[in-house]
Amino acid sequence: ETEDLGELLEQMAERFEMITKDRNLHFSKMIPNQPLYVDIDKDKVMQVFDNIVSNAVKYSPDGGTITIKVTPGPQTVNVETTDEGVGIPKESQPKVFDRFYRVDKARARNLGGTGLGLAIAKELIESHHGFITIDSEWQQGTTVAVTLPYSALEKEGVVE
Ligand code: ATP
Ligand code: MG
Repeated sequence: ETEDLGELLEQMAERFEMITKDRNLHFSKMIPNQPLYVDIDKDKVMQVFDNIVSNAVKYSPDGGTITIKVTPGPQTVNVETTDEGVGIPKESQPKVFDRFYRVDKARARNLGGTGLGLAIAKELIESHHGFITIDSEWQQGTTVAVTLPYSALEKEGVVE
């Protein structure tokens, strides 16, 4: 279906703000006030963003800031989720999209999860003709970027 990605992310950020109140996290939403139409399987794509933001929450210190920045480009819309958490060593970064890969086994055990979230995210985003990348500084924070093409309708100017 055709969905307004900005609106979906706005709602998602609000939901995370509510369910993480006890962690004192700050959610900075940089989402433009204009419709950004994408043709997506809404449940699946929102499951991807849910995992990305859950990771940001999971690996952030209490009181940290999580930024969700949506940048409309000419053909695609870019969504960057940035946290101030533990980060990922450079050599591990290419592996985080592998099934069952988790950076630190001890840390992973404490925090739970299966190591499937980002592998599924990559498959799903690529099946929507988009891409996903991760960039991180160990002990400083992580940015996950997702790029999705606009809806075909919007490109033809049918949806304004
Ligand atoms: P699941 O998503 O299946 O519950 P998971 O969160 O461990 O488990 P992924 O979402 O695939 O798995 O992430 C893989 C690994 O990448 C994580 O175990 C973690 O080590 C690392 N990682 C992912 N996002 C972050 C982040 N924002 N900050 C630090 N490390 C991260
Ligand atoms: Mg995860």
